[in-house]
Amino acid sequence: MPCYRCGARQTDPVRGASPWRRGVRSDAQVLICPDCQRAHDLELDACSSCGSTTLVCRLGEVECRSCGHVRSAGDGDPGRPPVPADLAAEVEAALSRVLGRS
Ligand SMILES: [Zn+2]
Ligand SMILES: [Zn+2]
Repeated sequence: MPCYRCGARQTDPVRGASPWRRGVRSDAQVLICPDCQRAHDLELDACSSCGSTTLVCRLGEVECRSCGHVRSAGDGDPGRPPVPADLAAEVEAALSRVLGRS
């Protein structure tokens, strides 16, 4: 996975811990290269409990590596609602209309 910000590719890890950082941005796991870590406009998601940006995104969940707080991915963005609840009802109503005519 390249750096989300500049697109740099992670080089083969030298001995020791990788200088690359993992984070979560808009509920997506991202990697940040050592250069971009110095930038101030990373806009990483922060833990709602402790404010740490050391988050890990798993299937449908975002876990804080600092305090262990877990939230469902998508909670932090009310502008993206899930599938409309009345969609199934609309489909059913349309189906019964069609079936009712035949
Ligand atoms: Zn970068
Ligand atoms: Zn936390």
